Amino acid sequence: MSSLMRKAVLSDRDLPQKWYNIVSDFKNPPQPMYHPATGKPATPEQMAVLFPMEILKQEMSSERWIEIPDEVQDILKLYRPSPLQRAVALEKALETPAKIFYKWEGVSPAGSHKVNTAIPQAYYNKKEGTKRIATETGAGQWGSSLSLAGSLFGIDVKVYMVKISYEQKPYRRMLMETWGGKVVASPSMETKAGRDALAANPNSMGSLGLAISEAVEDAAGRDDTKYALGSVLNHVCLHQTIIGLETKKQLEMFDVEADVVIGCHGGGSNFAGLAFPFIGDKLTKGKKTQIIAVEPSSCPTLTRGTYAFDFGDVAGMTPIMKMYTLGHDFMPPGIHAGGLRYHGASPLVSQLLHEGLLEARSVDQLPSFEAAVQFARTEGFLPAPESSHAIRAAIDEALECKKTGQSKNIVFNLSGHGHFDLTSYEKYFKGELQDYPLPESDLRASLKGLPKI
Ligand SMILES: *Cc1c(COP(=O)(O)O)cnc(C)c1O
Repeated sequence: MSSLMRKAVLSDRDLPQKWYNIVSDFKNPPQPMYHPATGKPATPEQMAVLFPMEILKQEMSSERWIEIPDEVQDILKLYRPSPLQRAVALEKALETPAKIFYKWEGVSPAGSHKVNTAIPQAYYNKKEGTKRIATETGAGQWGSSLSLAGSLFGIDVKVYMVKISYEQKPYRRMLMETWGGKVVASPSMETKAGRDALAANPNSMGSLGLAISEAVEDAAGRDDTKYALGSVLNHVCLHQTIIGLETKKQLEMFDVEADVVIGCHGGGSNFAGLAFPFIGDKLTKGKKTQIIAVEPSSCPTLTRGTYAFDFGDVAGMTPIMKMYTLGHDFMPPGIHAGGLRYHGASPLVSQLLHEGLLEARSVDQLPSFEAAVQFARTEGFLPAPESSHAIRAAIDEALECKKTGQSKNIVFNLSGHGHFDLTSYEKYFKGELQDYPLPESDLRASLKGLPKI
């Protein structure tokens, strides 16, 4: 009988019962969020217009372990624990002495890791009486995850979907509608932020920062409505740590320790989810694991942005956070990894990068698609264009091992599947995709608009 171990599978009983809060192990406390109007630290009472109290408590908590409510665990068990797979066929194709492992988050009903936070967010909203949640979505991954969670808890979900995606990705919209979500293209006529954007440019194709402005305005203006964000914030990264906690148990089943941990980076949540439990071991046990966040070179927040206070949205309605940013006015080019087109980054990931606990690198669009296709042709699964950035870095690390003869254990997060992104693959095969390195002059211009704190 073959003894090859290709995947490590945990049972329902092994689902983590607590999230890991990395803030408890920070040497320097994180900076507070500042109120956009007063310029003073935002109080929970001020933020309570947008978020349920329990979420705000998590956002500001420094407790190490936070209980996952039973009802949330029961729903997570629909698809969790997710498998950790060893990429045996990819290793062979690369002729590398390295071992490559991927955490497969595409098994969730919406097809990505975003469901991991949509479920607890909907749960806490339900518990505190929220009837309706407004949110934004870029490529549609977050909108579909929250629509699903809303339908499971009986909450109406309103999604402002960036117009370019609304037009390019009709199937994601239909998925949201199937789960009961109400979807409108952003900029829309339904909010002041949307009307202002359309007045300035009737052909605007929108951006994530603008859609956030619309959703925040919607939620702030109605008593029955709250707002939900699918990335960036501390509580979102917290909910995602279930990924890394499972992965650590699964690596033990393979009897290996991670040398390199890799995640793609948009707002930082899937990266944080995998990496934070490993970074925790660096902070508390002196482990030397190499941790890499990978972003597109067209939207190089971590590698070329500034570590400064900035708004999370275009209209300046969200709290101001200390993070790596390209400036909230930054309009990223229309690359196909829609989930990575965001001007800012998680404040926790930003601080860890600033303090040297992780590194960041950027990759171009074409090499990331090349990596995705090589992965699909060896491992079978079709990656989301976002996840492909992590695959590119994992392959590059494995090829480096081939050169040096080192046998490292490389672990990356395969954050989602690409079944709704086949048009992008088609364009890649037809040679219609290009790289968009960001010109220095554009970067300097968008950084001019940073708020003063
Ligand atoms: C949204 C998304 C991302 C990027 O968001 P993060 O918050 O940085 O994780 C990455 N991969 C997939 C599949 C996504 O849907």
